[in-house]
Amino acid sequence: MIEFGYNIAKDRQIDFDKNDKRISTYVRENEPSFKTCISCGTCTATCSAANFTDFNFRKLQLMVRRGETLEVKEEIKKCMLCGKCYLACPRGVNTRNVIIQINQAIEKIENHDI
Ligand code: SF4
Ligand code: SF4
Repeated sequence: MIEFGYNIAKDRQIDFDKNDKRISTYVRENEPSFKTCISCGTCTATCSAANFTDFNFRKLQLMVRRGETLEVKEEIKKCMLCGKCYLACPRGVNTRNVIIQINQAIEKIENHDI
């Protein structure tokens, strides 16, 4: 087999019908600025937690929007709620409150409130 020096990525499909949108809906209702994110990544570039871990807030928001929420609970624990991303966001997304709302949504799902 010829070694080209790279691998072909595995096929990946997103099934929106199977994904769980409860967190996304809850955050949109309680922090409307969540809808205005353009996935630019400025929040991740300035993130304090990303300096010490592999935390990627841009990616986490995408996962929530897609309803791919299995990893979100563990990932979000890496955030220190410092609020630096909120100051840097060009769209004015209240990222700190987005994180708080995601945590609240997870708690409500666990208590069968939503
Ligand atoms: S900086 Fe703001 S607009 Fe850019 S990815 Fe982060 S939350 Fe979205
Ligand atoms: S609030 Fe969380 S996501 Fe935002 S910069 Fe601080 S550690 Fe990173």
